[in-house]
Amino acid sequence: MDSQINGFTGFGHHNPGFVSAKDAIRKAEIAAQAAKNNPVQQARQTLAQAQAFSSGLGSSAGEDREQAARGGAHRSPALKFAAPVSSKDTGLAFDPDKLARIPEQDRRWSWVEVDLSAIRHNTQAVRSRLAHGVRLMAVVKADAYGHGAVPVAKMALNSGADYLGVATVDEAIQLREALIGAPILVLSQPPAEAIPLLLGYKVMPAIYTADFAIAYAEAADAFGISAPFHLAVNTGMNRIGVRWDQVTEFMRQIDFHRALELVGTFTHFATADCTQTLDFQIQTKRFLEALSALRMAGVDPGIVHAANSAAAIRFPDVHFDMVRLGISLYGFYPCNETLTMIDLKPAMAVYARISDVRTVPLSDGVSYGLHYRSRGPQTKICTIPIGYADGLRRSLSSRVRFLYNGALMNQVGNICMDQCMFEVDPYAHGLRDRHEPAIGDLVTIIGGDGDNVCTVEGMCELLNTIPHEVCIDFGTSRMPRLYRQ
Ligand SMILES: *Cc1c(COP(=O)(O)O)cnc(C)c1O
Repeated sequence: MDSQINGFTGFGHHNPGFVSAKDAIRKAEIAAQAAKNNPVQQARQTLAQAQAFSSGLGSSAGEDREQAARGGAHRSPALKFAAPVSSKDTGLAFDPDKLARIPEQDRRWSWVEVDLSAIRHNTQAVRSRLAHGVRLMAVVKADAYGHGAVPVAKMALNSGADYLGVATVDEAIQLREALIGAPILVLSQPPAEAIPLLLGYKVMPAIYTADFAIAYAEAADAFGISAPFHLAVNTGMNRIGVRWDQVTEFMRQIDFHRALELVGTFTHFATADCTQTLDFQIQTKRFLEALSALRMAGVDPGIVHAANSAAAIRFPDVHFDMVRLGISLYGFYPCNETLTMIDLKPAMAVYARISDVRTVPLSDGVSYGLHYRSRGPQTKICTIPIGYADGLRRSLSSRVRFLYNGALMNQVGNICMDQCMFEVDPYAHGLRDRHEPAIGDLVTIIGGDGDNVCTVEGMCELLNTIPHEVCIDFGTSRMPRLYRQ
């Protein structure tokens, strides 16, 4: 199996249709190209319609355009977006390609930054704790926990990861369409209707029902290819999987089928991040029982894996043949026990710019419900364009703090859908320099500024949740994501 890394592991053999990785890549390239052309054409059409519409809006606008076309009295900086061809009849038109070049963070002043060098650092930090030959799966489900599945997967694979894990078939297809050839495991069993997609895109399912296994094998056989899969074993979490004491029986039910190929066997821990380890030990013992039962029955379990981030960092005994890294890849510590065990760097930061500033008379209210009351003209109320539709959860209202000019500032009033407010006392202790906040000033929602830092973990404490949820909320929101290498 070693030789098959980066080559659609397990999808060997004879026959057309899906034969080579090259074919798949070529197909994906064509599909990607088609997808690329479409939105541009659509954008052109929409823009042409919008311009046709606005040209009917009275003659003065038309005169302005004519004047602009002649390079008239006031040369606006907006003219750099004009299309190269213009006639006297149509006046100037905007060029969609030039418009597209306006950076996303200049369209709305809030955005997410992902530092890919942190992904590299974290992959290598865990890699260095693994024994030689132990594989590393980068779990990039939920758009890589909001960090962007394709760039993260590419960086992880370039930094020592061997395998990719996703939650859905479409997440796997997205990676294939980006021409990623590494083995991909869907971490649960998809609907049987999705089987042709698995085979077509060479994506392995986790399997735990005989019906699905047979349907998968039949479909593969019809195309003359193999049907590789990982067996999911339920050792106590009771989410998915074949019970640990029924695995040999399960394999006996399905192993008559020549196309089926057991590439791996795995389980998932319910309490790897808990201080108390008894339940973890019980699950480990059951998993070992299942593995030895399989071997006794003459079944090779293939790549054995069990550890998520917490287990991979805390318990080298359960590394087996592969570990599955999610949260630690993104730079978050899965539990306090791991704080001193490994050096991780968070990859995500969130920023905004002040979009409005005002002084509010003493005791005037701010935001929906007017729950916050101004402390007087000394403090400035600043607005930023980020709200609960951008992952800044409404239950953080009046509890969260942001970094402005190196100092922590209280968010005040209810967080709205698209905006929220915070207060700045320009003479407050800790400000780097005493100046009046102004429209356009940078505000750090997640990240460091000067000696201070706003962390995802800090937000988690306020929200009583885990970093997974907070970074997914920001990263999969409508905010643009910018990448740093
Ligand atoms: C999400 C997931 C992981 C990754 O877990 P982390 O705690 O984020 O490291 C590993 N294995 C399975 C089966 C998962 O669903």
